[in-house]
Amino acid sequence: MQVQAKVASQRQLAEDTFCLRVTAPEVARIIQPGQFLMIRPEGGFDPILGRPFALYDVIPGETPEQDAFEFVYHVVGKMTHLMSEWTGGEEVEVWGPLGNGFPTPSGKHLLCVGGGIGYTPFPAVIRAALGLKPFGESPWKTTTERVTFCYAAQTASKLADLEGVESLENVSVQLATDDGSRGHHGLVTDLLAKALEQSGDDRPDEVFCCGPERMMQAVARLCEQHQVNCWLSLETPMACGFGACFSCVTKVKTCDGWDYRRTCVEGPIFSAAELELSEV
Ligand SMILES: Cc1cc2nc3c(=O)[nH]c(=O)nc-3n(C[C@H](O)[C@H](O)[C@H](O)COP(=O)(O)OP(=O)(O)OC[C@H]3O[C@@H](n4cnc5c(N)ncnc54)[C@H](O)[C@@H]3O)c2cc1C
Repeated sequence: MQVQAKVASQRQLAEDTFCLRVTAPEVARIIQPGQFLMIRPEGGFDPILGRPFALYDVIPGETPEQDAFEFVYHVVGKMTHLMSEWTGGEEVEVWGPLGNGFPTPSGKHLLCVGGGIGYTPFPAVIRAALGLKPFGESPWKTTTERVTFCYAAQTASKLADLEGVESLENVSVQLATDDGSRGHHGLVTDLLAKALEQSGDDRPDEVFCCGPERMMQAVARLCEQHQVNCWLSLETPMACGFGACFSCVTKVKTCDGWDYRRTCVEGPIFSAAELELSEV
């Protein structure tokens, strides 16, 4: 749906990384982890296209009309620079919820891999998977008993505050930084490889991942080697967000070769086994 909404508040979670809360009860009521929304300022033509952002959290208001959703963004260009100056009260246009969202996790042990700003869907995924917070009209009914969250950034100042996720029972957060300023000095895939080599309950049953393309390729290959189901959330740049413009197509395998799928409507979550990996 398309709604006119208002920015409620904004807070900073890391260097150049902000969390924006938008009051939009129609969207907040139904959005699921892994789905996204498109947002742009109300009125005017600059920027003319909305920008896509993944759901970070849903915040119940004092009354149902004040229910809000949150997304977390990294300041990279025109729109995100503009948004970083918002303080509350700005009028925005929102399209959402968009995309398919993550599937209900299967098995007992879910492992999430977040690279850079790709970490944003996982606090909601983790709470939903463990039954700690219901999202949408048909909340997940899962068998998940524990979650491992491997989260990496270039440097400590770019690791976002996880706002309590790390202290949840049955959640293990493992950090990595490229420069070793916090957590493991190296790639998040080193942490994943170690986890996939475990046996019994320590071995993850399924992997959810979002981050830079090359990281997702590496995660998908590791999961394939270890025969663990892997789901990737693609961040392919897109113009319309609802399937009309075909600007966000990605290649998937089909029985007679390959075909295109639109990341905005058939994704953004795809099974890694379904994707032509060289195109991820
Ligand atoms: C489904 C989906 C979910 C997303 N979720 C988030 C999120 O939760 N948080 C977040 O910070 N970002 C997310 N993104 C990326 C976000 O949409 C872009 O960073 C944003 O559109 C940039 O807008 P801008 O006007 O600031 O940058 P622009 O001025 O439009 O571009 C600035 C630079 O960023 C590059 N760029 C723009 N979009 C992308 C992209 N999708 N991937 C790689 N490079 C890009 C441009 O090529 C350019 O170099 C998501 C993208 C998708 C498709």
